[in-house]
Amino acid sequence: MIISTGTASGKSLAYLTPAIAGCLDRGTVLYLTPTKALAADQLRALRELRITQVRAACFDGDTPFEERTWIRQHANYVLTNPDMLHRGILPRHAQWSSFFRRLRLIVVDECHGYRGVFGSHVAQILRRLRRVCAKYGSEPTFLLASATASEPGTFAKRLTGLEMAEVTEDASPRGSTTIALWEPPLTELRGERGAPVRRTATAEAADLLADLVLADVRTLAFVRSRRGAETVALSARAKLSDVAFSLTNPYVTTPTLPTTSAVPDTSTIPGTTAAPGATSVAGTTCATPASGATSVVGTTCATPASGATSSVPFTSAVAGATRPETAADRETTAGPAPDGVPSSEGRAPHDAASLPPTAPDLPVHSRREGAPLTAGDTVATPEQDAWTIPDADPAELAELPNRIAAYRAGYLAEDRRLLEKALRAGTIMGLATTNALELGVDVSGLDAVLITGWPGTRASFWQQAGRAGRDGRDALAVLIARDDPLDTYLVHHPQALFGQPVEAIVLDPDNPYVLGPHLCAAAAEIPLTEEELPIFGATTVDVLEDLVNQNLLRKRHAGWFWTRRERATDLADIRGGGGAPIQVVESSTGRLLGSVDEPSSHSTVHTGAVYLHQGETFLVELLDLEAGVALVSSGNPDYTTFARDITDISILSTLRSHALGPGTLNFGEVEVTRQVVSYLKRRLQSGEMLGDEPLELPPRTLRTRAVWWTLPASAVAPLAEAGIDLGGAAHAAEHASIGLLPLFATCDRWDIGGVSTELHADTGLLTVFVYDGHEGGAGFAERGYARAADWLTATREAISSCECERGCPSCIQSPKCGNGNEPLDKRGAIQLLDILLALT
Ligand SMILES: [Zn+2]
Ligand SMILES: [Zn+2]
Repeated sequence: MIISTGTASGKSLAYLTPAIAGCLDRGTVLYLTPTKALAADQLRALRELRITQVRAACFDGDTPFEERTWIRQHANYVLTNPDMLHRGILPRHAQWSSFFRRLRLIVVDECHGYRGVFGSHVAQILRRLRRVCAKYGSEPTFLLASATASEPGTFAKRLTGLEMAEVTEDASPRGSTTIALWEPPLTELRGERGAPVRRTATAEAADLLADLVLADVRTLAFVRSRRGAETVALSARAKLSDVAFSLTNPYVTTPTLPTTSAVPDTSTIPGTTAAPGATSVAGTTCATPASGATSVVGTTCATPASGATSSVPFTSAVAGATRPETAADRETTAGPAPDGVPSSEGRAPHDAASLPPTAPDLPVHSRREGAPLTAGDTVATPEQDAWTIPDADPAELAELPNRIAAYRAGYLAEDRRLLEKALRAGTIMGLATTNALELGVDVSGLDAVLITGWPGTRASFWQQAGRAGRDGRDALAVLIARDDPLDTYLVHHPQALFGQPVEAIVLDPDNPYVLGPHLCAAAAEIPLTEEELPIFGATTVDVLEDLVNQNLLRKRHAGWFWTRRERATDLADIRGGGGAPIQVVESSTGRLLGSVDEPSSHSTVHTGAVYLHQGETFLVELLDLEAGVALVSSGNPDYTTFARDITDISILSTLRSHALGPGTLNFGEVEVTRQVVSYLKRRLQSGEMLGDEPLELPPRTLRTRAVWWTLPASAVAPLAEAGIDLGGAAHAAEHASIGLLPLFATCDRWDIGGVSTELHADTGLLTVFVYDGHEGGAGFAERGYARAADWLTATREAISSCECERGCPSCIQSPKCGNGNEPLDKRGAIQLLDILLALT
């Protein structure tokens, strides 16, 4: 059975009840989760129940050896992860015989995490598990728990290989949530090919976080990277410092401060537009930066003191409001690298010391411009939402910035408990975090959630939004769009978000590159017999034949045997992409940080890359492919890097195809040759382009699956005659369609790639390919083929709804384009898609 319902709907109770009943009835339970942290949390919750008959234990890489024997022999509730099941438990099943013999229930928690290649590996591990259970005569029930997903039963069947019942009705009580979709404005900055750059989502998130905390709204801001989360927390704290300062120093004014009722001449303020919508604040009049934007809270009418760009630190949260880029946006970028942030694990996150208390190096941009507001003043917004400024108890005001903290993965359980407590008590009102909180920490006392950038899937969006709403009260969730076609599409097409089923969770257990290693591991566990082959899927017979030919397995009368000395489980790198991995080593200490599979090393740990490891930022000094090592050093560059590749593709076989408009849509096997040729640097806070650095890396070949469409020459000839650059149009359509595919399949735009050409050698036609970036394929392109009409329609909409004139990162530019986003034809892309979708 699979239970697929929202956050905090009681899924844990739904599996705990039968699990505990099973233990009381002398059975055993196996609990699987994608992360060790979640298993540890579950164990704690289980122990708090104080049921003596339940002997629960975590069995993972951290379990001390002296405890392992006890667990194998005596525990009746074992919590582990797929990695440990694959490497530690299944290969030593004999030591677990009494556990397997009594196994009643297998709980697969947070199973929406098992998607793509990783999900395909887990699917095969679960098949091996079923086989081992059968050997010991048990036939346990699988109980899967997932965030909301579309067609959960189909997914669960693919994951386990068993027919599954689904429970999808969520009857848990909750208040209503207001969802705001927020698009940052275009700035004066110029990016590649002169494209306009939007104000970054993190800069907007910092403003909103400060506003909400000031309004006594308990808020969690989800930010993609730890560094981003820290930047958001630091900027928001700086903004609160400003407020505290202006409230405790109410008479610090500037000579140019507008007098009562006088509307300042905003046209003289650089960086602002004239503001028709002026808002009255406590006796003075403040100009709001743009019509439609609302109240200025707590501080400052922007005044052009000595040529400084005006800053409007606090505007209230009204969807659709825009603000011009201010100096603060750029200054905070150059602000202190969060060096002051201790990196030692285990420091209490709410500890004020975990962030510089006064952020002294931050530009405190509006102090001397403070409007004389005093405590208790009420600031009215045009919507008549009144916000009361906290009492001017100086001690309390000084504490204001400390009500915002940053949180990251890796804190100890007790620190996480302290944080939960501080949030519940309201001593911390605002928290900026990576999605570390998506798994494992219970923050139920929140009023609002800020989601900085589309989190990738509707499922995670609803999961993050579901964090807001305490005790059944109403809540607010704000999605702040990043500079990306998918984000643009969503903020302009709320209908793509609301009333839509969430994505299907896609995986492809039949991928021969995944199946092969698991057949070897299965044969090493218990020799494989003919009757068992159907468990592993339709392609098993062919793959077995290959394995025998490669001398990995031996076929004997009784079945297939693993006869080699090595461990069969080493063949499957379940979280990577295969191939000998590249070791990522810190050069100053020799510390091994982790490994990256060889195929993706070219784009993630190339020389000069900014590499994120568990939220920490490193700079790659050198990628040595021969030695299999990437040397990195800890650093805090104020930019991110994007590897750019050039790609060739050839069609090996067409598996499916059908007509689409005057053209054809195809799905099949391809060979992709990719070469990373350079990398792009973009400023972290502003998104500004800092340059393109060349790289020398060898090309790589990949056999994978792709979806592609073609249009006949007769259909596109009129466009060429009308002056459209066909190559640029196809290229633009390809970029945008890569950006939009994650709306239909649970993949990241980095999981897929594309090639477009006016004339492809294999088709002889204008062709656009989108391929799975994993050896053998991962199911993404296949999903694109199945949903092509919706996917390409959304692609067209994303391009046409972007307000830029000739293309920008929000629509047709791609950060990983190996051709430097050249040529691109925005108008042509729309026309090309219109023809394909038969809209003309
Ligand atoms: Zn655009
Ligand atoms: Zn490109």
